[in-house]
Amino acid sequence: MTQACKLAAGNWKMNGLRADMAEARALATALTAPSCGVLLCPPATLVAAMADALSGSAVMVGGQDCHAAASGAHTGDISAQMLADSGASYVILGHSERRADHGESSGDVAAKARAAHAAGLIAIICLGETEAERDAGQTLDVVLRQLAESVPEGATAANTVIAYEPVWAIGTGRTPTLEQISEVHDALRANLPDSAISLLYGGSVKPGNAAEIFAIANVDGALVGGASLKAADFGAIVAALDAA
Ligand code: PEP
Repeated sequence: MTQACKLAAGNWKMNGLRADMAEARALATALTAPSCGVLLCPPATLVAAMADALSGSAVMVGGQDCHAAASGAHTGDISAQMLADSGASYVILGHSERRADHGESSGDVAAKARAAHAAGLIAIICLGETEAERDAGQTLDVVLRQLAESVPEGATAANTVIAYEPVWAIGTGRTPTLEQISEVHDALRANLPDSAISLLYGGSVKPGNAAEIFAIANVDGALVGGASLKAADFGAIVAALDAA
């Protein structure tokens, strides 16, 4: 079986002005030939500037969402091709904040992933249960259904990454137990269309818990929100992944 690639991906969400690119530059300067992939996904306004600033470094740049259509009358939206044209190589899709705030269904996410693939972007497709779903014992049913419905035909390790992000762990400082993460990642691996697709864990990953999470079989990296905004914190998470 081909080995999945290790990836540390940072999601800046709706945070970051041009001045904050100093953190991205500091991260790139601090990283000397990491063995894992390193990615920052800033707001769309910073994608082109960050891609220019980090050109030639080990840090790649991605978007946080794209429209399913290639172009057209979609005011305020951004296409996958526009992200690629701005220097992005990845795009996060189906983040729980978009599923909740914008009513995105798994079918919508699959359509966006098709557009991302058509534009040559690697889609990071996010999945995860709510706290109520976990409490009801529905976690595996929920994430496997989201996997089946959000990942389009033609998804391979070359164009797709899956991020397991329990909704209740995002931005809360709470994380599942290592056994709970392991259970979900094992189930996801067994149901991937290509077993070499990288599986990221996301939800309150910090320098202090990264190493134990990366030691779990079938965890190939992390999607990191808050801790990706500071070069020192994200750099420590990248170092933990490199060492895993
Ligand atoms: C996220 O937004 O994808 C995320 C995991 O956030 P945080 O690391 O802040 O929990």
